Amino acid sequence: MTIFDLHERVAFITGGNGGIGLGMAKSLAAAGATVVIAGRNQAKAQSALSALHALGAQAEFVELDVLDEASCRQAIQRAVDRFGRLDILVNNAGTTVRGQPQDLTAQDWHLVMNTNLTGAFLCSQAAYPHMVRAGAGKIINIGSMMSVFASSYATPYAASKGGIVQMAKAMAVAWAKDNIQVNTILPGWVDTDLTRKAREEVQGLHEKVLARTPAQRWGNPDDFAGIAVFLAAPASNFITGAAIAVDGGYSVHA
Ligand code: NDP
Repeated sequence: MTIFDLHERVAFITGGNGGIGLGMAKSLAAAGATVVIAGRNQAKAQSALSALHALGAQAEFVELDVLDEASCRQAIQRAVDRFGRLDILVNNAGTTVRGQPQDLTAQDWHLVMNTNLTGAFLCSQAAYPHMVRAGAGKIINIGSMMSVFASSYATPYAASKGGIVQMAKAMAVAWAKDNIQVNTILPGWVDTDLTRKAREEVQGLHEKVLARTPAQRWGNPDDFAGIAVFLAAPASNFITGAAIAVDGGYSVHA
């Protein structure tokens, strides 16, 4: 086995039915993993599965609503029942509600926090015993530039994405004894459904992103192929609790 080989590994990707999640699912499959994409939207899932199968991947969809604790447990269990093990969890499902903090409702706050942070906690907790049984595990969380920086319209989003970095560190410390590594990817601005909506709602966003990103472009889901395989593979076995920017230089630009 090479240090980037994922054959005989099973990966579960929340929100793997589109956007960055699907980009990572494709690369994990290309490295040999069986991939389980999990989410709510069936139509997106069917088209994602077609794309994965066209690449020769072993891939399945399971329904998952990360807002529902039972759904998190059941979806992970379904993946284990189907494929016999779980080695890699990617906590990628995410959402946002944009608005100034004084205008947001408690419901807005809970929706974003529960999707982005609590959902990742619950899926990690559900995955843990299966990784312990396998003798190893990789948990990859998706943070954001807003794990570090902030925008006036993104209070719950920034709180959830800051929180997921700290959650990963705590789990990294707790589960190192089980040979489970827990890391977070911090994407820059990436062209997906989520940010297409942001570009409509936030005036001048497109130009601001281009001006601040040294790579002079938006990211695309395939830009997460390499980091996903690296953090899922034996190559990263001594890396845990890290938060790694994949942002075209956005976070180092003064
Ligand atoms: P998308 O909107 O394409 O993907 C979000 C995914 O999350 C969807 O596939 C969606 O699945 C899933 N999801 C949302 N709510 C739930 C839920 N309650 N239960 C299960 N799945 C859910 O956007 P991105 O690909 O951009 O986002 C992926 C991750 O990357 C998110 O965590 C986001 O915050 C993060 N990110 C994105 C950046 C960007 O610039 N695009 C930058 C930084 C971070 P379904 O449609 O089935 O509900």
